Amino acid sequence: MDSRGDELVEHIQRSADYDNAVVKVLQELGAGTLRSDEWEKDGDLVLYRGCVYIPKDPQLHHNIICAHHDSVVTSHPGQWKMLELVSHNYWWLGISCYVASYVAGCNTCNHCKSFPMQKVRKLMPNQIPSHHWEVISVNMSECMQMDRLQWNFTR
Ligand SMILES: [Zn+2]
Repeated sequence: MDSRGDELVEHIQRSADYDNAVVKVLQELGAGTLRSDEWEKDGDLVLYRGCVYIPKDPQLHHNIICAHHDSVVTSHPGQWKMLELVSHNYWWLGISCYVASYVAGCNTCNHCKSFPMQKVRKLMPNQIPSHHWEVISVNMSECMQMDRLQWNFTR
């Protein structure tokens, strides 16, 4: 593990603001009133189904998501891929909502990725002209592409 991973583990170990449900589970496990294969204690870390439980620390949640989303290796995966990557090792209450909101708010993703589910605006047809050449329409996007091609050829 690199130094960034070590810092992350230390941050997780320092955080003690557990969710109430997790505190209750840990108390029952300690008292022996609950037998569960899902919850374990590994030193200062709490494991849920083999994943490290992350306490209620917004900065820690952000650091984990950021390390998985903004790295050169993963290069801004979508919501479901992000959830798969993060939940492979970590778990906290509301992880899927946090991942969805992080990806939806990522500036780089919003600039670079296409979202096919976005609605296209309603087409506005031209009025029927009364004379020839009364209305002329031009597709500006093709003109801009032609300008770029000419620009590239002249350089
Ligand atoms: Zn992104």
